[in-house]
Amino acid sequence: MSKTYVVVAETKDGKLRQVSLEALHAAVSAKNEGDELVAILLGHNISEASADLTRYVEGKVLIMDHPDLNSYQAEVYFAAFTQALDALSTQPQFIFLGHTAIGRDLGPQIAAHLGVGQISDITSMDKNGDDVVFTRPLYAGKAFEKRKLSSEGGIVTIRPNNITPASSVSSPGIVVPLDFAQPDSLQTVLKDVVRKISGKVDLTEAKIVVSGGRGVKSADGFKVLEELADALQGAVGASRGACDAGYCDYALQIGQTGKVVTPEIYIACGISGAIQHLAGMSQSRVIIAINKDPEAPIFKVADYGIVGDLFEVVPLLTEQFKKV
Ligand code: FAD
Repeated sequence: MSKTYVVVAETKDGKLRQVSLEALHAAVSAKNEGDELVAILLGHNISEASADLTRYVEGKVLIMDHPDLNSYQAEVYFAAFTQALDALSTQPQFIFLGHTAIGRDLGPQIAAHLGVGQISDITSMDKNGDDVVFTRPLYAGKAFEKRKLSSEGGIVTIRPNNITPASSVSSPGIVVPLDFAQPDSLQTVLKDVVRKISGKVDLTEAKIVVSGGRGVKSADGFKVLEELADALQGAVGASRGACDAGYCDYALQIGQTGKVVTPEIYIACGISGAIQHLAGMSQSRVIIAINKDPEAPIFKVADYGIVGDLFEVVPLLTEQFKKV
């Protein structure tokens, strides 16, 4: 019997998030011939993103565009999602989301609602007949666990930057606009306060991360890292040491109590390499460390190390990359 696979897509600044394309690819890889794939996009002013989404989905793209869905609120998004489910002819077996702030919050609510299990933060998957085995890191990346969902299906969240994004399809999907019925809410949003952070590229999805630690010495010192990140079209991250010192916003913190990033290149500048920092970046494909202390523990996990003053090394790198 054919099954229905659902991908809950997300937008950022009106654009489709890269992790949603990765979730789509995971769903396409997991499903069998004849299974249905449906994408759901919730938000406001999302016509550009929904048109973009149709390029990657051969099936239906369910769109709920409403001012109340402008920013994420758990109960409102959950209500919108269940209304979108009602528009499907059958209950989906597998639902894929990004392992983002929204995915981490919405996923378990959906799992509880449908009475199914969840596998979170997957970094790879293998399909063996009807079985799909998902791999997820444990203990801050020191071990990996392989898991599969029961035949009843379940929820899967995808760690950004680990699964290849979906390719465009030959026959684009069909947009199905849905009405949104506001739930009786116990809360009202009075005002959205958006903290300004320097990131032009989303930190968790960036292919290159230039990260600064206490060695950067000041908020001003982060400017040299921003210039290198701009030259490489990457994002700026930080250690908790740098955040605690007030050099940058906590939104940039990478590590055990911050964000987990797995970019293709991670450039650690003036970061000692404490275990709690490694928990957030040690799965990066290539690690480059710049530190003036040759004994700094970061060099133990680095693929390339530069012993030197970051204020001399980083501008030289920026100058060279600008020429490329
Ligand atoms: P430091 O350890 O002070 O290192 C600064 C480095 O800069 C040194 O190696 C020094 O040689 C180098 N340096 C100085 N000047 C220069 C220069 N001019 N050029 C080049 N190099 C220079 N930390 C995190 O990062 N993320 C977390 O999520 C996190 N969670 C934590 C959770 C808990 C429960 C605890 C207890 C700690 C946590 N920490 C976390 C803190 C962590 O233990 C370290 O204290 C922190 O990572 C240190 O930050 P740092 O490397 O920037 O600073």
